[in-house]
Formats: sequence, structure tokens, C-alpha cells
Amino acid sequence: MLHIPFDNSYARLPASLFTRQNPEPVKAPELLAFNHSLARDLGISGDQDIEELATVFSGNAIPDGAEPLAQLYAGHQFGHWNPQLGDGRAILLGEVQGRDIQLKGSGRTPYSRNGDGRAWVGPVLREFVVSEAMHALGIPTTRALAAVATGEMIQRETALPGAVLTRVAASHIRVGTFQALAARQDYTGLQALFDHARDRHDPEAKDPLEFLNGVIERQAQLVTKWMNVGFIHGVMNTDNCSISGETIDYGPCAFMDSYDPMTVFSSIDRQGRYAWGRQADIIVWNMAQLATALVPLMPDQDDAITKFTSAVHAMPERLNSLWNATLLRKIGISDPRSGDLDLAKQLLTLMAAQSADFTNTFAALASDTAGDHFVDREAFEVWAKDWRARLKDETAAQDTMRAANPLLIPRNHRIEEMIQAAVSGDMAPFSRLMQAYDTPFEVSTESRDLTHAPLDGERVHATFCGT
Ligand code: AMP
Ligand code: MG
Repeated sequence: MLHIPFDNSYARLPASLFTRQNPEPVKAPELLAFNHSLARDLGISGDQDIEELATVFSGNAIPDGAEPLAQLYAGHQFGHWNPQLGDGRAILLGEVQGRDIQLKGSGRTPYSRNGDGRAWVGPVLREFVVSEAMHALGIPTTRALAAVATGEMIQRETALPGAVLTRVAASHIRVGTFQALAARQDYTGLQALFDHARDRHDPEAKDPLEFLNGVIERQAQLVTKWMNVGFIHGVMNTDNCSISGETIDYGPCAFMDSYDPMTVFSSIDRQGRYAWGRQADIIVWNMAQLATALVPLMPDQDDAITKFTSAVHAMPERLNSLWNATLLRKIGISDPRSGDLDLAKQLLTLMAAQSADFTNTFAALASDTAGDHFVDREAFEVWAKDWRARLKDETAAQDTMRAANPLLIPRNHRIEEMIQAAVSGDMAPFSRLMQAYDTPFEVSTESRDLTHAPLDGERVHATFCGT
């Protein structure tokens, strides 16, 4: 028998924060993927019979000790306030070692609105591969424990096979969770949520201001790490912004191939609000919404507004200095001096002008072969002369670059290819991607082709929220 050592601290919070709800059973659960190493880390033990895993991680059986519930939250979606969101297709089973175990795609809840409460195999496997790749890249993220096919078809633009993802997170508390309670003027709930979130994520924080500063710092670090690998989250709504500082909600996310700071893939992001190069601005906006929701917790509201405003206003400078240091490390500079930033930005300008591949160009700097990625090689060579001269004064430039620049990212065309194969019953591409992306700073003969940028016919132009 599978043993999962659950605690249920969220279920002990005031009832206004959630609705107790069991997952809806599915017709014919079949295990698609299971993350054994994560299960071991979580202390999930037992003989892990494939059928039992499929039964538990589809929601068809409630494991001992779980107290299933759907969480309430609200949020700003593309800047527009939505007072009632919540887990419309997810169920929190409980916590293990302080981390949430959540089923996603597990059926309707009181927060489903018009949705069917389900997910299809494509986005489930996409989240599995991409979140595990992010983890291997050293980026804070929710993790993927299991993916189970439901044996049911669900209706999107066409009928598609359903699946349930088991997601593991430091918590599922979002900016929008605080917003929901503040907007309802449920100050008892807000205080209880604050105490709970502080215990989990910021035990040192003395008050909401220190807590806010903790979230701001984690989010600043996170967004800088996204930018470093060309990651575009795609839906940075406040309900998809985690208090823990983990990447959460892999809907229409994507990695940039050729460099263009305005790159956006999500089909619903018509204005490019969440483009790669705008993520640093948007996260500040999101933190301002969190600050607003925390104000009622402070004894003196005017004083709170003054202090919270300066905390949020300090964030752009922090983001800027994190990004500058990151960008310099990408070109091998860990001991910056004046003029270095101009040098780095000149490279980005060249890359944008020539649509150079973001990942491969930076990855090639360590072996000084980046010229291969420019159509107008001479323009690059002019830049590279100054760069090589500058690196003579850096002690470990190659090491700095190798540590900063991954060789492998989950490219969109590979993810799409993997999904197509999985839908027709072939999980081999999934396994291959999982293995390759586990070591993104190394390539083997078997994984070398995964470094290639998409050919014209392979390019993915849009990702869809129809998840
Ligand atoms: P997302 O765009 O995935 O961040 O979801 C936004 C909101 O829509 C959340 O409240 C989700 O729980 C809800 N939602 C998304 N897809 C579904 C679905 N298929 N059924 C019910 N609710 C959904
Ligand atoms: Mg979401």
C-alpha cells in the first residue's frame, strides 16, 4: 500500500478560505508518468504498484490522511480584476513535508464557473516536462509528481484525451489569495492566511512589511532567472504569482528561440503585456497588488501605505541590478567595471538585429564560437574584439559563462512533437526529453539535436490557454 505522510494545515484555516471537495472519479486511469526521485524526497513509500499510483493520482481513491479541498483566490487577469477565481479544476490533497500535493484536472469545484474542471494530456505533459526542466535549470518551480490519463475525452476545440497532473508546491498561496480576502473584507481570514503564509515562507518576518519585502525579493530573483534562460511565463496574472517565489502555472509558457525582447507566444496576450522583456515591469505591478491586499493587516493604514509604497518603488532598481549582473555573467564578466554593461547590451542589440538564437548564441560564447550564430558575422567580430580584450582581465570567464548559459532548454517545437507522440500512445519522446533536460548544462551525442533551433517549418508561433 502506498503511504503518503499527510499533514493538512490549510484545512485547519478558517472555512472562508476554501471548500472541502473530493476529486471527481475518472473512467479508466492509466499512469503516464511518475517522478520516483521526487516521491523519494517526499518520503512517499510503499511498493508503488502502477495501478495503485494511477488510482490515487487520478483522484479515484483518496489516500489515507488526505483532506481534499479547493482553495479560494481572486486576481487581476491581464490587468482586469476578477473577484472570484479559485481552484476551478484542482484539489489540494494535503501537505507532505510542508509541500502541497495537488491534483490538477481533477473535476469541477464551486470555483469552476463555466469550466469542465478537466485538463487534457497536452498541457499536463507540457507542465511535467517544463517544470522539471526548470528545476534542473536551478529555477524555483512547482514540481511534477505524476501524470495519469483519465480514459475520458474532453471537449476543447476538438475532443482530446483527458489527464490529471499531480503538482507539488512549496504552497499554492498566490497574490490573488490575499486579494480575495482583502476584497471581501474578511479580515479574520486575511490575518489567518498571513500567519499561515508567514510560518511557511518567511518565519523571520516580524510584520506584513517584512513579509512583503520577502516576497518582493523572491519574485525579483525568480523573474531574473526566467529572463536568463529566455523563459516567458505567458500569464503573469496575480493569481498565477506565488508567494513562495516558485514558478507556477505552466499554461501558455514558452522559451524564446531567436532573441527579440518583445517575444510573446500566448495566443490570448494580444498586447504583449507578458512579453519576455516586460516581465520585470509586470512583477512590480503584481507586487503593488499584494501590497494593497496587505494594508488592512497593519495597525496604522497611512503609515502602512507609505512604507509599502517605498518597498514596491525600490523593486525596479533591485530587478535592474539583478539583471545587469546576470547579463554580465552571461558574457563572462563577474567583476564588473564601467563600460561593461554597454558591451553586453551591444551584443543583445546585434542578436536582436540578426534574430540570433538566444540560448545557442550565449552557450557558444564559452567556446568562442558564437560567430556561427550570426548571419552578418563581421558585425559580431567587431563586437567580439572588444569582448575578448575585456575578458583578458577576468579570471574564470569560461566557468562563469558555462554556469550562466544552459545548453538545453525545452524548446517549443520539441514539446509539441512530444505531445503529438503521447496522444498517439508513444511516450518515448517524453522519456527522452525528461532525460536530456535533467542535465541542461551538458549535452551528449544523444541529446545534441535537442539544442537545435527550430527550422522554419518547425517553429511554434502560438501557445494556447485552451488547457
Ligand atoms: P489559469 O488560466 O489556468 O490560471 O486559470 C484561471 C482560472 O480559471 C482559475 O480559477 C482556474 O481554476 C480556472 N480554470 C481554468 N481551466 C479550467 C477548467 N477547465 N475548468 C474549470 N476551471 C478552470
Ligand atoms: Mg492559474
